[in-house]
Amino acid sequence: MIRLAMTLLLMPLVAMAVVPGRGVPEALASERAANIRVLRYELSFRLPEGKGEAVRGVETVRFTVRSSQAVVLDFEQKRESIVSVQADGKGVSFEFVNGHLVVPASVIRAGENAVRIEFVAGNESLNRNDDFLYTLFVPARAHYAFPCFDQPSLKAKYSLTLDVPAGWQATANGAETGRATAGGRSAVRFAETEPLSTYLFAFAAGKFQVETAVRNGRTFRMFHRETDAAKVARNREAIFDLHARSLAWLEEYTAIPYPWGKFDFVLIPSFQFGGMEHAGSILYNAGGLMLDQSATQGQLLGRASVIAHETAHMWFGDLVTMRWFNDVWMKEVMANFMAAKIVNPSFPEINHELRFLLSHYPAAYEVDRTTGANPIRQQLGNLDEAGALYGPIIYDKAPIVMRQLETIVGESAFREGMREYLKKYSFGNATWLELVGILEAQKPGKVARWSRAWVELRGRPEITTMVSEGKVTLRQRDPMGRGVLWPQQLQVTVGFTGRTEQFQVALNGLSAEFATGGEKPLFVIPNGGGLGYGLFRLDAGTLRYLVEHLEELGDPLTRGSAWVDVWENLLEGRVKPAEMFALAVRALPRETDEQNTQRVLGYLGRTFWQQMTVAERGARSVELEALLRDGLGKAKTASLKSAWFSTYRDVVLSGAGLAWVEKVWRREEKIAGLSFAEADEIEMALNLALRAVPGWQQILAAQRDRTQNPDRKARFEFVMPALSADAVEREKAFAELREVRNRGHEPWALERLRFLNHPLRGAETQKFVGPALELLPEIRRTGDIFFPKRWMDATLGGQRSPEAAAAVRRYLAAHPELPERLRWVVLNAADELFRAGR
Ligand SMILES: [Zn+2]
Repeated sequence: MIRLAMTLLLMPLVAMAVVPGRGVPEALASERAANIRVLRYELSFRLPEGKGEAVRGVETVRFTVRSSQAVVLDFEQKRESIVSVQADGKGVSFEFVNGHLVVPASVIRAGENAVRIEFVAGNESLNRNDDFLYTLFVPARAHYAFPCFDQPSLKAKYSLTLDVPAGWQATANGAETGRATAGGRSAVRFAETEPLSTYLFAFAAGKFQVETAVRNGRTFRMFHRETDAAKVARNREAIFDLHARSLAWLEEYTAIPYPWGKFDFVLIPSFQFGGMEHAGSILYNAGGLMLDQSATQGQLLGRASVIAHETAHMWFGDLVTMRWFNDVWMKEVMANFMAAKIVNPSFPEINHELRFLLSHYPAAYEVDRTTGANPIRQQLGNLDEAGALYGPIIYDKAPIVMRQLETIVGESAFREGMREYLKKYSFGNATWLELVGILEAQKPGKVARWSRAWVELRGRPEITTMVSEGKVTLRQRDPMGRGVLWPQQLQVTVGFTGRTEQFQVALNGLSAEFATGGEKPLFVIPNGGGLGYGLFRLDAGTLRYLVEHLEELGDPLTRGSAWVDVWENLLEGRVKPAEMFALAVRALPRETDEQNTQRVLGYLGRTFWQQMTVAERGARSVELEALLRDGLGKAKTASLKSAWFSTYRDVVLSGAGLAWVEKVWRREEKIAGLSFAEADEIEMALNLALRAVPGWQQILAAQRDRTQNPDRKARFEFVMPALSADAVEREKAFAELREVRNRGHEPWALERLRFLNHPLRGAETQKFVGPALELLPEIRRTGDIFFPKRWMDATLGGQRSPEAAAAVRRYLAAHPELPERLRWVVLNAADELFRAGR
């Protein structure tokens, strides 16, 4: 109510129809996209030598409008940061409201306009260091640095000049066209760009080394700050080759030549992301590209993938851009999809199908199996909330869905569709639905209905198999009761005595059936080929077969799928925890694929802590520890050894087992082929203290003294109170988390909370559930985007009691005003707790 009154009060003051709200509201963006045409920014920034001094800028914004009207630019700084505004050489009396510079209608005319603005740039998105800086404007942070229309759908041509200390290197989207040096400073001019969204406009400047290479007649430049010349020499050819190969592949696939003229990339130490696809001037995290001699296969694959990913963005995202950030998932998924096609064939020793399955399906199910699931395409009312869109549904379900789309449409029709989409919307914007329209025209009746179920709606299908003599029937159901049908292609694996067969099955309606011949199958795995998505409620015969024989399946991909299915069926109450435990114990020593081993170890730990009772854990722990010690001894790679050891450390309960971990922690016992870093020893110390081994106080004190890294030491000290043997101390440790200043380091707060709620603490943890929930709205207001979900996971992850479930239900009932996204967060985190009571 207060908001509305304030709005009314302000209206006559600024003489506008609507006062623009904070951030970049969707309504403002749509209105501007409809009115503003032929947009250009002529920008210059003066970059001082020291980071203490402000960056100053001048710009002329040129645009066309149909009629005289007020124009709203975004600038998230104080009013004083605007030095002057001029139109036609005359000063303009502008308004400044909610981070927007409003140029009045009186100085805007129908047709062409030019507004000149002098300003002091904010530092928030300039990433200023002592002798270099770089911009990072995604998703809508350009307007922290300069006044602009900060939305992806107002693409503009940029002419940039940077005034830098002489001797600094500089790169931007356009090619450098001139450099004039005088008085210890250089003015560097860049060519005008093709139309770009604000989040893709970028520059970097400072002390960089520049390496140049020519591939296929094109010059590539690499800016970096690596001081180890041998390291540069070892990596440079591979880095240039990977870019050139990705670029050639993409030109062929898209049938569109590289759109951005020159090709630069910059290696930033400790960059926020793996890479960022600024058109013509990509930024990378240096550590991902400059590899050490000891680089693993995984790191080499990671480097090739990030290069292919960012290069793919030059078309998917940069050339054609989403209209609004609710479709940001599209460009990410397309870039990953292309990267996999480009890179995977060069790494034949990795089972890529299994990798795709295990890295995406379980994570997507963690959200999609719950009543708190969100759709891939979500509403986004304001760009300042864009971060809230990210999560497993975007990162993990969307890639699965995109792969399905290609399967449904067919590889060549899919490529034709992509070519048409890129050509039609070149240097413009398009929504997901516009791509769907193109593909639907390629395959009428197939794509639009598919997209609605998979992309626009939340949740997953529940698919039941029925096996009878000579026939298998698959039937789907919407567990949310909306009657949604999810069309999909399945590769069903059917097992007979001595052999297996694959069946391609299209499940487009309520059910599908196929003939298997006269022989009765031993098992039917509808996602055996790794493709199918949903809850597969396996038939009783198959479920029994898998519980008894899963480890005998010959194909690693089918085994991986079967493990995922058995886990999902366990959560449905169709497999007993004791059966899962026995299966994992039997199967682990026989597993030959490292990826499956890692996954099964994860399931084993979760079964132990989250599915078994205290008595069951006590009865099985000696057997479990023996298995893990044996696996550790036999593991061939360091990564595998580390997976076996960390599972051991997390589940150990026996006196002998704890004594052994303590010896390892004391460095009195070595494990061949496995070395421990400081962080590993901290984990050991915390787990020993949690179990209150004799002398645990001294172990914590010794670990604190032993820890060298000051950040890790401070974190350790922060977590320590959660390990106290005194319940009153632990309650105090929780109470401190109510203060926002004690949640400043979110990972620290989460680690403390997780230890407070560990299953070993038993019934005591129930008293934290209610208060942790009550804090949630504040957590969202004061914390980073992933914090509310992680806070709830840390609170509820170890809880299985009816009392804890009741506390969650009470909270939800008492707070009908909770925003939908936050309600989903709670339902999502409480899923396994609610299931425990069923
Ligand atoms: Zn990306």
